[in-house]
Amino acid sequence: MTPAINITAASQAIALDRFPRFNLCHMPTPIEPMPRLSEALGGPKIFVKRDDCTGLATGGNKTRKLEFLVGEALAQEADMLVTQGAVQSNHVRQTAAAACRVGLQCHAVLERRVPNVEAAYEETGNVFLDKLFGATLEFRPAGLDMNAEAEAVSAQFRVAGRRPYFIPGGGSNPTGALGYVACAQEIAEQCAQEEHDFQWLVMGTGSTGTQAGLVAGFKALDWPLPVMGVSVRQPRERQVGAVYRLAMMTAEKLGVGGATESDIIVDDGYVGEGYGIPAESTLEAIALVARTEGLLLDPVYSAKGMAGLIGLIRQGFFKPSDNVLFLHTGGATALFAYESDILNTVG
Ligand SMILES: *Cc1c(COP(=O)(O)O)cnc(C)c1O
Repeated sequence: MTPAINITAASQAIALDRFPRFNLCHMPTPIEPMPRLSEALGGPKIFVKRDDCTGLATGGNKTRKLEFLVGEALAQEADMLVTQGAVQSNHVRQTAAAACRVGLQCHAVLERRVPNVEAAYEETGNVFLDKLFGATLEFRPAGLDMNAEAEAVSAQFRVAGRRPYFIPGGGSNPTGALGYVACAQEIAEQCAQEEHDFQWLVMGTGSTGTQAGLVAGFKALDWPLPVMGVSVRQPRERQVGAVYRLAMMTAEKLGVGGATESDIIVDDGYVGEGYGIPAESTLEAIALVARTEGLLLDPVYSAKGMAGLIGLIRQGFFKPSDNVLFLHTGGATALFAYESDILNTVG
């Protein structure tokens, strides 16, 4: 399916070295087989791309985006990073750590997006690490336009004489998405070197930068690996539209041909009750992957992505001969904010 490509020529065409970048990420992250999970599911051969091992403060997908975002912040001589996320945001934790690496302040606006949580939810997991990295935090109720809130906060800092660099939620803008264009290139290179032949890539999709960057990257490389985004928060149609818009803007930034809307594939069957609320399938995925492969997933993103992969296998979506690559986007730090949900279900 995935033809061998002339990586050097394709990479030169993308020319990511045009863009400011600060090295934060352990690369390449390994691609590993999951033989015991594949056997337990009786399905295709499953492999995992270990972006939970990007190396910054327990890792995760935001590190790749932050290489370009922090690079741009430094090029603009910012003196602080301002961003936003849900309370247990992995993006905010990685941004807070990246700010420490470059000696900038980090200020984050946190949305109380998940209803009915215990008091410890705002103290443990990612919030604990945000504080350890010295980030300053403020909270908002659910349902506001959080990028607008964080931009308003940035404007106040600017009035006070600071030079804030604003990073949207999840680091998902064309600059951040370049991190996943780079990852698409990395996967293509690994497939050539390690002789993998994948028919699908499956991942959890939220603020869209990861899927948009991968789709834009594979398109620019003319290397057609289909990407299945498993929505963690919103209905299929809205997620497809959002991923498509960012994929187009990313292609425009690169000056390459864009994807078509039919390249954006999303399954919304594993959201459950909503963002940050684990469904039964989420908790099953956490336990199954932990107990077959000794691998940690997170309850907000990667386990919903894995629940999608498990569900698609059970529906017979893949051929038994397929090789499927699961992108592990990280997030296990948030497990500590969900201990009782998990233990009540899996024992
Ligand atoms: C942010 C995040 C995602 C989703 O990536 P987007 O680029 O926001 O779509 C997936 N997994 C984890 C662990 C994340 O923190």
